[in-house]
Amino acid sequence: MRIAMIGAGYVGLVSGACFADFGHTVCCIEKHPDRLAILRRGELPIFEPGLADLVAANVRAGRLSFTSDLAQSVQGAEAVFIAVGTPSRRGDGFADLSYVYQAAREIAAAIEGYLVVITKSTVPVGTGDEVERIIAETRPGAEFAVVSNPEFLREGAAIADFKRPDRIIVGTDDVRALAVMEELYRPLYLNRSPILITSRRSAELTKYAANAFLATKITFINEMADLCERVGADVQDVARGMGLDNRIGAKFLHAGPGFGGSCIPKDTLALIKTAQEWGAPTRIVETVVAVNEQRKRAMARKVIGACGGSVRGKTIAVFGLTFKPNTDDVRDAPALAIITALQDGGARVRAYDPQGTQQARSCLENVVYTGGPYACAEGADALVIVTEWDAFRALDLKRVRRLMKAPVLVDLRNIYEPKDLLAAGFVYVSVGRPSAAPDAGSDARSPPLQLARRPRRSTQPLRADSAED
Ligand code: NAD
Repeated sequence: MRIAMIGAGYVGLVSGACFADFGHTVCCIEKHPDRLAILRRGELPIFEPGLADLVAANVRAGRLSFTSDLAQSVQGAEAVFIAVGTPSRRGDGFADLSYVYQAAREIAAAIEGYLVVITKSTVPVGTGDEVERIIAETRPGAEFAVVSNPEFLREGAAIADFKRPDRIIVGTDDVRALAVMEELYRPLYLNRSPILITSRRSAELTKYAANAFLATKITFINEMADLCERVGADVQDVARGMGLDNRIGAKFLHAGPGFGGSCIPKDTLALIKTAQEWGAPTRIVETVVAVNEQRKRAMARKVIGACGGSVRGKTIAVFGLTFKPNTDDVRDAPALAIITALQDGGARVRAYDPQGTQQARSCLENVVYTGGPYACAEGADALVIVTEWDAFRALDLKRVRRLMKAPVLVDLRNIYEPKDLLAAGFVYVSVGRPSAAPDAGSDARSPPLQLARRPRRSTQPLRADSAED
């Protein structure tokens, strides 16, 4: 089948390469001249594990190509995917649909025979109706159907997610379009990937509901982590105890610095706006967003607390800038807000990220970027792990300590065991776990001291122990 994929970003490029790998012929249309030039040179404009090889193999096989000529590629296609960005609209949090509607207008101008127009971008309920209206008004009499097919891939594991999805959602009641969708995803039908066929509106809403639910789970465990810090419990144990319940599940129960990334923050905001507009406010999601916003500032306060109450004039080494490991994407990454807050507090920031430095440069000012974790730690008064890259999991802690000015490590992803950090001579502060720091700095109402070791199973109030204890 011949496919046109509009937008060669994280979703369009991965989906395009995977569809090509299934044997379809895919033309990716990218209007950003730099991204297109990079793709045409045989390189990738984004980092995604395994994608370079997949793209190269399919380009070599003649099944995958890149162009800026939307009209020509749409005219040769039986299905066209819209995979353009839907960022938050500046000022009000609604999804900015201008790229989607622009793509719809360009498709309308090019349409020839029967065409299935598939929205893969995350779009609010009713967007499919509007895309349909635009095409029908621009080209009365054109034969087409508009289908919603939201994408659920995760950056960092995008190829596996696309090829072995938990489910595929197809929103249409058009029988002819459904046959095209079945043909497109036939290789996955054979893998028995569940395909759920719904109305277009249900498909559109499913994507937002799923992301909002994940955001809620993350925020819930983050609040439990705060409570654990107060009462001397360990959020890792609490999360495991919860997650072993099949009704709850263990995923997305990792306490940390709050959710970020290119999707969940903007999608929760957009859902809130849609729900308000339709008169059915989503109070839970509104609270989740507000709590998550506060959390980023609370994480900066945690670092400041670990540094004795002030970071003015201090050097803070930040490990990890991307919103999660195995991507170069820093959109809405917690690191950005945390670094800015630390700089506002008077800190000098050094940073290292295995893939995110280039993107971070355009979002942050006055940060010294280093070439590796040890170079980053050099001369630092405190080290903060913000993203749980594998490269940070087995550091030579003695070496890190020798390089630093003061042995303070704030681990916002709980990738280390407190006892190991204590043994290496660090003051160690993590999330929702007993801390080795005299003042874990979660906020002003924290008990002044927390236990360095796992508290005994007791209902006694916390005892004040020193870091050396
Ligand atoms: P992105 O910004 O990486 O890519 C979008 C690309 O579309 C850009 O390269 C842009 O230049 C291009 N583009 C925009 N208008 C165009 C046009 N008219 N013609 C040709 N190219 C055009 O965005 P992304 O992360 O791939 O996300 C795309 C959509 O998928 C969003 O709605 C997002 O919410 C959704 N989504 C993203 C992810 C993810 O992990 N990134 C996962 C699931 C869903």
